[in-house]
Amino acid sequence: MAELPRDTFGRPLASLRLSVTDRCNLRCRYCMPEDEYVWLPRTAILSFEEIERLVAVFAGLGAHKVRLTGGEPLLRHDLPTLVGMIARDRRVDDLAMTTNGLLLAKHAAALRAAGLQRVTVSLDTLRPERMLAFAKSARHADVLDGITAARQAGFAKLKLNAVVIRGFNDDELVDLIEFEVRFIEYMDVGGATRWSQDQVVSQREMLEVLAGRYGAIEPMAADGRAPAERFRLADGTTFGIIASVTAPFCRTCDRSRVTADGTWFLCLYAARGIDLREPLRRGATDEDLASLIRETWQARTDRGAEERLGVADRGALYRIDSLRADPHREMHTRGG
Ligand code: SAM
Repeated sequence: MAELPRDTFGRPLASLRLSVTDRCNLRCRYCMPEDEYVWLPRTAILSFEEIERLVAVFAGLGAHKVRLTGGEPLLRHDLPTLVGMIARDRRVDDLAMTTNGLLLAKHAAALRAAGLQRVTVSLDTLRPERMLAFAKSARHADVLDGITAARQAGFAKLKLNAVVIRGFNDDELVDLIEFEVRFIEYMDVGGATRWSQDQVVSQREMLEVLAGRYGAIEPMAADGRAPAERFRLADGTTFGIIASVTAPFCRTCDRSRVTADGTWFLCLYAARGIDLREPLRRGATDEDLASLIRETWQARTDRGAEERLGVADRGALYRIDSLRADPHREMHTRGG
């Protein structure tokens, strides 16, 4: 059997983020702040069978972690069926989904029954009026219902992701910590066209705020390739911080992303992706696809977040005209 591919920095191809739609039912200011978008053409969206086949090829190359994302993944019709198709592949030992939770209450049980193992809910604020202002949605209660339903359905290790933005929710750190939360530094990617460094609340600052309230914070042993650094309060409460801006984890990044139209990105910051849909629909064999993916991964040199660290006068990565010119640059297309 051929060896599993490693990139030029020795990083394995272990984790695949699969965006199943570029559509979303929220309009978060740091991700989709515009009124109108250029959507991926419907005919370009991969069918479940095409996704299943790609996942199998990736799994054969070492991708044992698969995370469904979007856009909002639960907007994809009949998602539990896709979950069931992927869950059948025993090489995928960690099948997860990231969702904004709006539709989770309706689907949690079916997703669990289909074989989804983990759910992460993105929730940036515990205050409904803030969600209305920030994400243009009055459905905060639906997210909380979704979290409850997911727990009842057996997703025990349910996690929350909260992007922390100065002047929006940085005063809620101490409230959000009641959940199993991972705080994410505000990133300059995709639709974050209004990004500025001063809105980023750094990992260091978050720790200072939390220590001021809860006392000493102890770093926990690093879990090799997880993006979040984990910490423990004196009372045993644990939380994570994803410091993609101030302390990027490129060195251990084993993630790549496939968009809903089958474009493969080796880095969240990559300017271009590799079109896997075209060979897939042209009749490429699994071996052809595997060779393409293997060779591309072995040549991977990306360390996008680290490179951004060195940019003087850092501002948003993209302006709106450049996002309109290629929607693959959007965070909601890449899947976050
Ligand atoms: N709709 C789903 C959700 O809300 O989780 C999945 C897609 S969303 C693009 C995935 C993650 O990306 C979310 O946790 C979201 O908060 C995060 N995200 C989007 N834009 C971001 C930014 N500029 N900085 C940091 N995280 C961001």
